[in-house]
Amino acid sequence: MPSVRVLDPVIAQQVAAGEVVDRPASVVKELVENSLDASATRIEVELADGGTARILVRDDGRGMSAEDAETSVLRHATSKISSIDDLESVRTLGFRGEALPSIASVSAFELTTSTGEGSGTRVSVDGGAEATISAVGCPKGTTVVVDRLFYNVPARRAFLRGSRPERAAIVDVMSHIAVAHPGVGFRLTENGRDYLSLPGAKDALERLAQMIGVGKARALREVAYDSGAFRVSGFAALPSLTEGSRVHQTISVNGRWVRADSLMRGLDDAYRATLPSGRYPPVALDITVDPRRVDVNVHPTKQTVRFSDDRAARAAIGAAVRQSIEWRPPTLTSAPTDTDRPFVQESFPKQSTNYQRGYGESWRDKKVAESSAGYAPSRDLSEVREEISGISNPEETPRFAGYSPSEPYVDLPERGALPELSELRVIGQLGAGYILADDGDAMWVIDQHVAHERVLLDRLNAGEDTASMQSLLIPEVVELAPAEAETARENLEELAVYGFEAEPFGPNSVRLSGVVSTLAERDIVGAFKNALAAVEGTEPGRQREERILATIACHAAVKMGDRMSLEEMERLVHDWLTSRLPATCPHGRSICFRTSLKEIGRKLDRH
Ligand code: ADP
Ligand code: MG
Repeated sequence: MPSVRVLDPVIAQQVAAGEVVDRPASVVKELVENSLDASATRIEVELADGGTARILVRDDGRGMSAEDAETSVLRHATSKISSIDDLESVRTLGFRGEALPSIASVSAFELTTSTGEGSGTRVSVDGGAEATISAVGCPKGTTVVVDRLFYNVPARRAFLRGSRPERAAIVDVMSHIAVAHPGVGFRLTENGRDYLSLPGAKDALERLAQMIGVGKARALREVAYDSGAFRVSGFAALPSLTEGSRVHQTISVNGRWVRADSLMRGLDDAYRATLPSGRYPPVALDITVDPRRVDVNVHPTKQTVRFSDDRAARAAIGAAVRQSIEWRPPTLTSAPTDTDRPFVQESFPKQSTNYQRGYGESWRDKKVAESSAGYAPSRDLSEVREEISGISNPEETPRFAGYSPSEPYVDLPERGALPELSELRVIGQLGAGYILADDGDAMWVIDQHVAHERVLLDRLNAGEDTASMQSLLIPEVVELAPAEAETARENLEELAVYGFEAEPFGPNSVRLSGVVSTLAERDIVGAFKNALAAVEGTEPGRQREERILATIACHAAVKMGDRMSLEEMERLVHDWLTSRLPATCPHGRSICFRTSLKEIGRKLDRH
């Protein structure tokens, strides 16, 4: 008997199905994308047992005729392309004609559809067997029910992870799709409980606000960037607003939500040295690119894409986001020299303070309405929108305004809220580690070390300090472990770029004869050793550079326990608040917090 045989078509289909659907979330993705391709305006998904027992997807799209419905469950049946050339310009989410037959081969499948004319059609397929067709009455649109996914493929069923994680994966997929298609209403329920309830929104900003809350949406900044080959648009959060997963980091390419490593790395580049590890700022970005420069047909799920130039795509995302989250002061070049307080009053355009005040007051009223509602009324969002676009167009409103409105801290997460520089008066130093300042409404406690670290990193990044080297009067001999000494010898040239003038000195030490002036009289040896560790732990490139610079900044910054004069503190606070990313330290920790006079009054029983 021959051992090579052609597989029975039903079995072949079940095997192939594994490429398109591996868990309930991929079924939901395929069905929701079909609904979007059918121009649905509302898509509802109902689950039982996290989708492992039942997935129902209902849309109000254009529906199918009886004939089309019958064909749709056949392998390679698609209305979306008809020739290989169409692939180059495909605008629909689907095109392979594999989803419905794949899903129908591994579940009890039922599709009910109507174009709104004549009667509707029901197509039932049980585990890939012959379809049964019947006429039914139903409204315009399509409903697909997928029962007992993988009931006939026990090996796959065994891989399902239980209803909670499977449901979480569905929430994740639908959240991303919902951000990429803000105009469409989405709902996800199980057992009468809403997991997502998203009415059609005006744009990605409103959609993100529906999901993260209007208060947090204030930390979003508009992204508009054009590198020639790539146009990037959308919204990205300041590093002060982060979440524990990437669920609200959505990037789409020509409208298609994708998971592409190169793009995620671009995001990470943009936020490098501003976040604690494992934290992710919400973003909603779309990249417009010539369809011929991107291949969406790399994988049957169409989730991974490949660009003809992956590095350029990564760079475009990185530059686009970095540009929008960095804040550059309008005119400030030098720190104030007089001791007049508030000490930088005239450094800022007058209207910035006015804008600030106006905004603060309107926010106060709004807060009441917002506090109880999960999804705040759109009037609130329109103010957020105005604020965001004000910040994104510096000609219209000074960028400083709106960056740190003086009132709405209650709504913002504590980390990342910033004082208004022009209102701030340094009062003194606490415990030789914290700067205390008064803004009229509150006391601010500022961590002197991390604030200084932020300032120095900014300067080092701008290349200001690496230019100025300082020779050491008495060279430092640094004793190293043999492995360290080896790394040092191999990387002396690179270390010189970062301002360490060093030469081998005996078998296991180096002699430091000059340093970047930022480090002069600071912990030179510690900085050098940590820079060595950074070189050792990373590949050459931007990340390594950032780590080395962060190391230098950390060792050069004032420490806990360093006493500072009032003038020194004022200058530091000024430099910190006018640095590019003042909200968090290079490791993502908070730099300051605020205690309002009200709170202080309460503690003293003043009511
Ligand atoms: P593809 O989406 O790659 O074309 P599918 O197997 O997902 O392949 O769907 C096959 C065809 O069935 C689609 O091309 C479309 O014409 C039709 N179809 C599927 N789902 C829907 C829907 N919800 N509404 C209208 N038509 C649909
Ligand atoms: Mg499809």
